[in-house]
Amino acid sequence: MGCSLFLQFLIVKQPDSLVFQSFSMRLAGYEPRVRFFAFLFACYSQAEHSVEDDIQFMQAALEEARAAAEAGEVPIGAVLVLDGKILARSNNRTIRDTDPTAHAEIVALREASKLIGNYRLSATTLYVTIEPCIMCAGAIIQARVPRIVYGADDPKGGAVRSCFEALSHPRLNHQPEVTPGILAEEAASILQSFFAARR
Ligand SMILES: [Zn+2]
Repeated sequence: MGCSLFLQFLIVKQPDSLVFQSFSMRLAGYEPRVRFFAFLFACYSQAEHSVEDDIQFMQAALEEARAAAEAGEVPIGAVLVLDGKILARSNNRTIRDTDPTAHAEIVALREASKLIGNYRLSATTLYVTIEPCIMCAGAIIQARVPRIVYGADDPKGGAVRSCFEALSHPRLNHQPEVTPGILAEEAASILQSFFAARR
């Protein structure tokens, strides 16, 4: 990656990243110089992911969210990506399946696990339109999904940073990398129009 692109990434993307917070916590006892280089390394490793790819896959998750709205379900969509390709995609199906666990993320994780014949989904990225809830955060940890990209925060139940910080708890061995805020306005607006139409 070119130096200017990396700097652009630092300026544009980093203020909304959880990388700095988690590194500050983990390296609290180290001297500032060490923390600074660790932070730069974390930024660089996150910069490996292309923002264009994130937007493209989030658009697929938004299509899923719209499909959920048409089916009368709370419009949240998710896609699971492996090696740059969509492995599984789903939307919220709790009403259709009469299943309180049938959130978009859980359905996509189940489908992907069956497809690859492994309940550990290492090397995948989960894209979801809204910040995952505490149940989905638990499933993400169980499946060892290494990276989560989500759209809008959920102030009522978000378990990444809004209500709980379930994915960055210091007692966890597996702490996925999180990129929030991708196409957040679109994700939030699908949800808001759905609830506005029902009032
Ligand atoms: Zn959930």
